[in-house]
Amino acid sequence: MPNWELVRQDFTELQQTMNGERLAYLDNAATSLKPTSVIDRLVSFYQRENANVHRGTYQLSFKATAEYENARKIVQHFINAKASREIIFTRGTTESINLIAATYGEQNVKPGDEIVISLAEHHSNLIPWQQLAIRKKAILKYINLTPNGEINLADAKQKITAKTKIVAVTHVGNVLGNVSPIRELAELAHQNEAIIVVDGAQAVCHVPVDVQKLAVDFYAFSGHKMLGPTGIGVLYGNQQLLEQMPPYQFGGEMIADVQLDNSKWDQIPHKFEAGTPNIVGAVGLATAIKYLEHVGMTQIRTRDTELMAYLVPKLMAIPGVKVYGSQNPQQHVGVVSFNIGTLHPHDVATALDMEGVAVRAGHHCAEPLVHSLGTNSTVRASLAFYNNQADCDQLINAIKETKEFFK
Ligand code: PLP
Repeated sequence: MPNWELVRQDFTELQQTMNGERLAYLDNAATSLKPTSVIDRLVSFYQRENANVHRGTYQLSFKATAEYENARKIVQHFINAKASREIIFTRGTTESINLIAATYGEQNVKPGDEIVISLAEHHSNLIPWQQLAIRKKAILKYINLTPNGEINLADAKQKITAKTKIVAVTHVGNVLGNVSPIRELAELAHQNEAIIVVDGAQAVCHVPVDVQKLAVDFYAFSGHKMLGPTGIGVLYGNQQLLEQMPPYQFGGEMIADVQLDNSKWDQIPHKFEAGTPNIVGAVGLATAIKYLEHVGMTQIRTRDTELMAYLVPKLMAIPGVKVYGSQNPQQHVGVVSFNIGTLHPHDVATALDMEGVAVRAGHHCAEPLVHSLGTNSTVRASLAFYNNQADCDQLINAIKETKEFFK
């Protein structure tokens, strides 16, 4: 196991105080902190290696292109995709999902077809499908959840039928931290000749991901939630599907041949990367992946479980605190949502901030899920492997003080 206290030293943001208190950063589901190696890599790229990619005929540009394409390979190996051309760089999960809806969805969904998502989806994996369904006069169906907020497989079996064209589900939920049965859902989709799109935004920094084992067609995630910079994300897509899809945006970098009256598109992945890409973002993401691999995704998963096993029972033991979702800490992968009596979550979050604890309050961009829990908003604490028991204790003590304050 890594020395977790040494690991913390790589995250300089943790070394400051907030409102005069030690900082307990528990909003990792919103965005992760960045290790020094990632920050240094961004700076060194801009200081010595900055050039545009794929079009220069000089050394700097060759080097920048090599770094950018090497980042694609690093992502490929991280999620075990078959080929690096199956990795498209995007701005993030949101853009990755919009890309599929605007290309595969526009091409393949017809009036009366069905798109199946779940009630646990982040708005990023809901609205693109909702709007596609409206445009195409298709039907959007929602898989129900169990009382613990997990995807109800029996209901999924009812909802995914021969009419289904697309199944789109989250891998790890951003409100409750449930892990979805992706492999089973992929089988259900494929038995019905539908494709499956997975929102991996909250999964990639917590669980090892193998797109071939999961048997998914598309897998979307964001660099900034996995120690990388903002503005860079990934869409993994099955090569055959990507080849059949029309481009998402048009312009430089994505063409093979331009005539006055028509044009031909470049091969994948370039067909989907119009314009100058986020070169330094991709390079920074590759450094983040190297860092995650150095710590070890299996070790990270174990660390998560340990921290949740420490935190969740302590939270549940505070009178008046309601923890949403499973009572089993292991089923809260990185995330736990709660409320304190009738206190408004925003008041709670503000009070916790005064104690140096950074959490998120609200509907977490997942309104249908939060409503299904019988509330409009929750307080969400989301952990990463660089959090420690002192962060959990600080949260618990701050909650107790908040309760006293509002008594
Ligand atoms: N999906 C899930 C489950 C998320 O938690 C988030 C962000 O919080 C997103 C999608 C959207 O990610 P981004 O804003 O990086 O595109």
